[in-house]
Amino acid sequence: VASKLNSSGLLRTQGLIGGKWSDAYDGKTIQVYNPATGESIADVACMGGRETNDAISAAYTAYRSWSKTTAAERSKFLRKWYDLLMAHKEELAQLITLEQGKTFKESIGEINYGAGFIEFSAEEAKRVYGDIIPAPLSDRRLFVLKQPVGVVGAITPWNFPLAMITRKVGPALACGCTVVIKPSELTPLSALAAAELSIQAGIPAGVVNVVMGNAPEIGNTLLASPQVRKITFTGSTAVGKKLMAGSAETVKKVSLELGGNAPCIVFDDADLDVAVKGTLAAKFRNSGQTCVCANRIIVQDGIYEKFANALRDAVLNMKVGDGFSEDVAQGPLINEAAVEKVESLIHDATSKGAKVILGGKRHSLGFTFYEPTVISDVNTDMRISREEVFGPVAPLLRFKTEEDAIRIANDTNAGLGSYVFTNSIQRSWRVAEALEYGLVGINEGVISTEVAPFGGFKQSGLGREGSKYGMDEYLEKTGLLISLE
Ligand code: ADP
Repeated sequence: VASKLNSSGLLRTQGLIGGKWSDAYDGKTIQVYNPATGESIADVACMGGRETNDAISAAYTAYRSWSKTTAAERSKFLRKWYDLLMAHKEELAQLITLEQGKTFKESIGEINYGAGFIEFSAEEAKRVYGDIIPAPLSDRRLFVLKQPVGVVGAITPWNFPLAMITRKVGPALACGCTVVIKPSELTPLSALAAAELSIQAGIPAGVVNVVMGNAPEIGNTLLASPQVRKITFTGSTAVGKKLMAGSAETVKKVSLELGGNAPCIVFDDADLDVAVKGTLAAKFRNSGQTCVCANRIIVQDGIYEKFANALRDAVLNMKVGDGFSEDVAQGPLINEAAVEKVESLIHDATSKGAKVILGGKRHSLGFTFYEPTVISDVNTDMRISREEVFGPVAPLLRFKTEEDAIRIANDTNAGLGSYVFTNSIQRSWRVAEALEYGLVGINEGVISTEVAPFGGFKQSGLGREGSKYGMDEYLEKTGLLISLE
């Protein structure tokens, strides 16, 4: 696969600074591994502060001209980039499966989803309207101008190595900003391939820059620079808090998409098949490694046994293996640390009375493969219902009344994705409004799309990505008062 990718020009291993592919200045590299086999795929440049400063300078210089292009021009560049992403869907999906491990089918899904942000941004670029406000005096006129915020630092995680980039870079470019991207060191290849296609799309040098390597050093360099006006981040709550604190010195705008602890509430009046299908999609996508994965499956007394049995039977049919193999529904976890976290959460839960009804151990395939797991009798004292699992484990909690369900669901500092299964319209509305969550799926297990706002309540983050609201994150508003005197 790697050699085929190489011949397509999409296997890039250097950083991108001011339109030039660049090694780390001291020649250092880091290895990228295939999580399904443990094999090394590539050596990529391991950069730090100096390269980041140059990338910021390049983005700052490019900003002067990029921010002055017309919306229609930026829209055309983005459209071209979208077309190229779609034209190279197969190769890009191979790259994602190779470095991230998700099944090839899911990788194709990520390209469609990820490229969708570029297409949507191409369309929205032309709709950044201002306002005319009735002025406070008869001989004055009052306007609101929307302008790009400036150079953006975008730091992204490994679980959606392409889509988390396009979701930030699409609206940033559409609004007239330029970017310095820092992808995860675990999955830099998809980011670099996307950057290569941005060059092929004719997006001018310096508008898109990519550096990777020493994450804290790159992060601190972005934070220290007064030229970087905005930090947009997807990743862990701990790092997000550091970036928010570090942005204070230069008062940067901050968008954060952090950890979740998604409740998936199944009421007695739910359609069992719909609830099982939705829960499977919400829980096991990307082997449970998404920030909106159902983390606590909260099931009402009357349907609990039936639901637990049906879920177990459905999970039993999920084939585990290399994401490139036919019929595989679940690939490996990203690394050993991820497996150890799952193991320790299960150990904690079972030592406090939870029962493993399926799985509960490493898969016989070895490496970082873990058996799709269902555990019952989970309660709110167990770590598994307080921490983000980020693995293929479905913990079942029991509840009696609607009030109980809402209380349990909201008993967390996170507030990103949530799911409700019920056939009552009244209950759907009541519960959706009571949930302190940025996203609610009713009888629906997949809630991410470029046309909906995505973001969290409480400590799950700040700001929204996708939709028209995602554009606001990259815009300043100038109040313009003109005197006619
Ligand atoms: P995850 O658990 O998803 O790996 P992280 O928050 O550790 O979450 O990683 C998300 C992104 O943040 C990655 O690109 C990672 O390299 C980056 N990162 C980690 N630590 C820092 C830091 N101190 N400053 C800036 N970025 C960081």
